[in-house]
Amino acid sequence: MDEVRTNILGLTPEQLVDYCSSLGEKPFRARQLQRWIHQSGVSDFNAMTDLAKSLRSKLVDKAEIRAPVVLKDHISADGTRKWLLDVGQGNAIETVFIPEDDRGTLCVSTQAGCAVNCLFCSTGKQGFNRNLTAHEIIGQLWLAEAAVRKSRNVPPGKNDRQISNVVMMGMGEPLHNFEATVSALKLMLDDNAYGLSRRRVTVSTCGVVPMIDRLAQECPVALAVSLHAPNDRLRDVLVPLNRRYPLAELMAACNRYLDYAPRDFITFEYCMLDGVNDTDAHAHELVDLVQAGATPVSCKLNLIPFNSIPMPGLRRSTDARIASFAEILRNAGIVTTIRKTRGEDIEAACGLLAGEIMDKTRVQERMAEKGIGSEEYIRSYQFKNICS
Ligand code: SAH
Ligand code: SF4
Repeated sequence: MDEVRTNILGLTPEQLVDYCSSLGEKPFRARQLQRWIHQSGVSDFNAMTDLAKSLRSKLVDKAEIRAPVVLKDHISADGTRKWLLDVGQGNAIETVFIPEDDRGTLCVSTQAGCAVNCLFCSTGKQGFNRNLTAHEIIGQLWLAEAAVRKSRNVPPGKNDRQISNVVMMGMGEPLHNFEATVSALKLMLDDNAYGLSRRRVTVSTCGVVPMIDRLAQECPVALAVSLHAPNDRLRDVLVPLNRRYPLAELMAACNRYLDYAPRDFITFEYCMLDGVNDTDAHAHELVDLVQAGATPVSCKLNLIPFNSIPMPGLRRSTDARIASFAEILRNAGIVTTIRKTRGEDIEAACGLLAGEIMDKTRVQERMAEKGIGSEEYIRSYQFKNICS
């Protein structure tokens, strides 16, 4: 019977040393192997020419380097590129590459679906399917770097990295899949793998307080927190996890994180929803929360115009409203940016990642099954009361 091969794509630097040692090999062999995998993008052990033949044949017998299979590859008119990747059992996830003049950013997914179910997010509407493995998370970077190099005729290797920044803002809540996320982060940062700076790798979370503290201890990188509301009453509805970790606890966790973070601010994300969380009063309340609350937090604000999903009652704030909201924050001295929507024509924008093989059909079916999006569903959240 064939032995099951070990997929070594997602092994952290330490785990790869242990794996090589289990094959009777020294740690420097693990570092060589890691450079072949993550810097040269090679998956064929026989092509790893500076590894001893004996090691190559052990690897051919026992190991494999396997990333998720690409099901679709879309390129937007603005250059944004989105891959739909098969992760088995009918689940697919999405990864988005956003090219800019001075950087290339990859937005990676950490879960198929998400259990948090924020009111405005299409990933949340699918429900939770499963956590991605470290192989599947780092596999997105491995695949994307190789694909972008190929499209730009840049040969494989350590230099001329096409992806300079990674944001964990794709599908799923990274801090609900902590171990695999941290394994992938360690590879992103390692000099024998991707060698990205901690400041250029961002974990985005809806606010899983205990895991923010663990991230500070185990792998501090830039942190983005999806705030979306300046008070608990509204946040309880928009981001249901707020009922478990309310704003006071979240702000305190953000402050603690800053002692370990590679940047001296937290980025707060705020999805702009017309008439829901975008009034002048909300802006002033937000200023108070971050500057005059029990725990003021050094922060930047990133306003995200809502990308429409089928959810009655939710609309994108007007550009004028977003500008006025931003003005109030800036007048209070808070650095505020308005996220440019990219890749809308290929549904690659924030919150639109659904990753189903059957595109959005299955998501909508599931939403219908759960009654999500119906008037009744929204009333059950007392949404109207909260917005009035
Ligand atoms: N689960 C993590 C990371 C993935 S979501 C988190 O919530 O932070 C990435 C960002 O997109 C989050 O700030 C999220 O709130 C935002 N988002 C979700 N749905 C959106 C939508 N329909 N329009 C705009 N932003 C959305
Ligand atoms: Fe999950 Fe983030 Fe979407 Fe909320 S916004 S449902 S936490 S993926």
